Amino acid sequence: MTGTTRHLLGMTRGELEAMFTDMGEKTFRARQIMQWVYGRSVCDLDGMTDLSLDLRRALAQRLRFGLPEIQSREDASDGVVKWLLKAGDQQAIEAVFIPEENRGTLCVSSQVGCAMDCPFCATGRQGFNRNLSADEIVGQVMLARRELGAEGAQRISNVVFMGMGEPLANLRAVTRAVNILLDDLGFGLSRRRVTVSTSGLVPQIRRLAETSNVALAVSLHATNDELRDRLVPINRRYPIAELLTSCWDYARIARLKDVTFEYVMLAGVNDSRQHAYELAKLLGDRPAKVNLIPFNSFLGSGFERSPQAIVDAFRQVLLQAGIMTVTRKTRGDDIAAACGQLAGRVNNRVRVPLGAKMQQGAIQ
Ligand code: SAH
Ligand code: SF4
Repeated sequence: MTGTTRHLLGMTRGELEAMFTDMGEKTFRARQIMQWVYGRSVCDLDGMTDLSLDLRRALAQRLRFGLPEIQSREDASDGVVKWLLKAGDQQAIEAVFIPEENRGTLCVSSQVGCAMDCPFCATGRQGFNRNLSADEIVGQVMLARRELGAEGAQRISNVVFMGMGEPLANLRAVTRAVNILLDDLGFGLSRRRVTVSTSGLVPQIRRLAETSNVALAVSLHATNDELRDRLVPINRRYPIAELLTSCWDYARIARLKDVTFEYVMLAGVNDSRQHAYELAKLLGDRPAKVNLIPFNSFLGSGFERSPQAIVDAFRQVLLQAGIMTVTRKTRGDDIAAACGQLAGRVNNRVRVPLGAKMQQGAIQ
């Protein structure tokens, strides 16, 4: 015993097995405990009735339990649900459930705030405080499942890392959470139903390929480096050509049919027909599909949403180039739950240029 406890929800099957081995117990105990937690939503030792009292006592010395605490819940008129969850120290993150006809998507946060500084994003405007731990990420899914009622487990068919934060800047915790989401003793989601969305951290995309083969979405938002340097500042470090190469490599290594490119439509900034042609040139003949995102505004953003006709014309150019392109529906409008509107509550710790943030460990 080391005297420290680990949170059960942040432990993979392999880590649980190692813990039981260390305790002189059989590794099948890991299976037993995961069945309680993920199969039957029992999140405390008292409920695990097929473990002996002695074992439960021994486990209580090593494990912590509990779900994130809800600060508020909002239900939108279209069925979208948004939770504001406490993240300690007067801070909060957000998770959003988006029901659709034949699936239900939970959008989870990976950090308290974000250090990437994209000027069109409410989270980015708030700055960065800290990475979430794996249990805080998995906890969002467990909590949503419980909150969604008796059918909660079935209702969440997809999980996307598109809430607050840059998931690949918190790769260690995100990888662990992904492992639990995919494990058939965990949430048992297929790898195509878990999507990591990134602003384009190239080394981390390469590292993700070594450990995981989940769906990848990349926030491209611009077709040339000059514009992308402004819209997605991490581009100054990893320019478009380098980013795209890492995407094609990822698709090959992870055996993915395609990578999704997100493109937020900003009026008069990146939405011209010329931009559409440039985008088609960048992605044509590659394993790529495009998600056009209507810009969701927030106070003082300084950007405007492209008119529908412009979005349609942009999409047509891509379709004619043979690129699968969809326009994302805006959901949860009346509760500010759409992409880029998640604000939570962040005590910004770092208000320095991106490069310096990297030195300080905002990116792992
Ligand atoms: N940090 C990751 C994931 C979270 S953001 C990333 O950037 O990919 C999820 C998506 O919402 C990204 O594509 C992001 O660019 C987009 N987004 C951010 N702000 C937005 C806004 N105001 N309107 C529409 N989409 C936005
Ligand atoms: Fe961070 Fe993504 Fe927002 Fe950029 S768009 S600031 S990477 S959360």
